[in-house]
Amino acid sequence: MSIDPHSFKEIDPGKRILMGPGPSNVPPRVLQAMAAPCIGHLDPEFLTYMNEAQQLLRYCFQTRNPFTLPVSGTGSAGMETSLVNFVEPGDNVLVCVNGVFGLRMCDLTLRLGGNLIQVKAEWGRAIDPEAVRRAVKGRDLKLLAVVHAETSTGACTTLEDLADIAHEAGALFLVDMVTSFAGMDVAVDRTGIDIAFSGTQKCLSCPPGLSPVTFGSRAMEVLQNRKTKVPSWYLDMNMVGKYWGAHRKYHHTAAVNMIYALRESLRIVAEEGLEKRWERHFLNHRALVAGLEAMGLSMVVPERERLPMLNTVWIPEGADDAFTRRHLLQAYAIEIGAGLGDLAGRVWRVGLMGHTAQPRNVLLFLSALEATLRKQNIELRSGGMEAAAAVYEDAW
Ligand SMILES: *Cc1c(COP(=O)(O)O)cnc(C)c1O
Repeated sequence: MSIDPHSFKEIDPGKRILMGPGPSNVPPRVLQAMAAPCIGHLDPEFLTYMNEAQQLLRYCFQTRNPFTLPVSGTGSAGMETSLVNFVEPGDNVLVCVNGVFGLRMCDLTLRLGGNLIQVKAEWGRAIDPEAVRRAVKGRDLKLLAVVHAETSTGACTTLEDLADIAHEAGALFLVDMVTSFAGMDVAVDRTGIDIAFSGTQKCLSCPPGLSPVTFGSRAMEVLQNRKTKVPSWYLDMNMVGKYWGAHRKYHHTAAVNMIYALRESLRIVAEEGLEKRWERHFLNHRALVAGLEAMGLSMVVPERERLPMLNTVWIPEGADDAFTRRHLLQAYAIEIGAGLGDLAGRVWRVGLMGHTAQPRNVLLFLSALEATLRKQNIELRSGGMEAAAAVYEDAW
């Protein structure tokens, strides 16, 4: 078989404003760090970067957990890691489901032979802790799992009550913080989270490819006392932990340049400061919502359950979902997300994650969306941009 090497052009995707559910825009510093020479994964210089990345991850997770490391793979690898290391056949596992990612944890639980108990909430709403309390009553529970920030709907579930319910039932508390990590306050130790995982491409603004996880002491004890071997070789944290811990025992080759990128993105978070970063996400979210509502559009999630980094808006009557998203991308280089599952075709998901959460992106998006909808003869009120700008002016 012969191929013409000249038919393959250099990669040149052009620039985009990534306002979807991830990946978010990656700052040049992170791309630059990735372009540093690849060195050996046991090179002393690299081991230093690994230690520093772990230190920075603990800062972001707000934890002292020694077991804190980035799993090779995207956020779903962190999810799989968090379940495969703890769920043994027959274990009672309660999963809160209010969107796609809760469903994914159900799928994993069943694959592992866990006895699945679901507590559901309407898509676009938070999980009600009282419903969880009722479901837990009288059960021997191994694990209670919840998605903090449901990226498929834009709903945020409060964690404190759920942590108490899990611990009163003698269960481990597992939290998917893929989208909330580094974008809003999620404190592993203060909240009493035993197992948490995230991803790099959301509010960290690093390319996809790693999944930070952290396990607390209760979780480590459960892991060490398993009756059966962890059924995944690659994601067995007993073994991976020996490479990230003092032993430096080879398990699989670290994703060297991705770890450079992760370390750099975490360094940027530390320079900005966590609180400042949360405030920035919240301010841009408020401006975006003010702009959308001033135009006459409405948000899916009730105000007190909204995520700052993922904004779900109902598609207005008469607007063409696919045309709107395509036009935003082609004419303005703005990517937004489509609806998923129950919300497919009914909503748009507008991400303001990490580096993307900036006034210029919010203001450009509002005017681009207005123009795109007017092109389709959708009736809108004017003043979206002004309403958003007023939120910024008030804050400054
Ligand atoms: C994105 C996401 C995931 C999955 O991450 P991938 O990087 O796509 O594998 C899991 N949970 C939530 C809440 C997410 O937003």
